[in-house]
Amino acid sequence: MSTSSVRSSFGGRSVVVPLIRCPLCTARVKFYVSNTEKHEGWVFYRCPVSDHFWHWELEYVGYLLDNHFLVGNEAVDALGTAEDKREELTRARNRRYAGGGAVDLPGFEDGRRSAGGGAAQISNQQAEALIGLANQILVMMKALVAALIVVAVLLGISMLKK
Ligand SMILES: [Zn+2]
Repeated sequence: MSTSSVRSSFGGRSVVVPLIRCPLCTARVKFYVSNTEKHEGWVFYRCPVSDHFWHWELEYVGYLLDNHFLVGNEAVDALGTAEDKREELTRARNRRYAGGGAVDLPGFEDGRRSAGGGAAQISNQQAEALIGLANQILVMMKALVAALIVVAVLLGISMLKK
């Protein structure tokens, strides 16, 4: 039974995560550790044959719960451990990125967030420019109205003189 489950530990806690069979080809899913910059140290579970089945540990545990491969206290412990690990891994990644030197990979959540911030900045600048333009138009309109009043008064005076 050593190949049908994996012991996942975090913060002194240790839980057994069953390795289920791929829902498509029934091969036993395998346990991997990501070594990409974005997900360094993240555990994922994958069908060894193809991309039939692929989940990060937290989503895999969620899948096990949804499909009753894990129930009761085992399910609670596995989900709690997976959530704590995810938090710690996310914090570790944020620390790495906060340290500078890292490049945002396009298409990932962090990249999208910074792109959205840039767009918001541009629209703020555009809004300020529009407000400035509106103020200029308002000043010109006031000057025009004042000029019209002066012309009307002058016309009135000249008509009274006749
Ligand atoms: Zn498969």
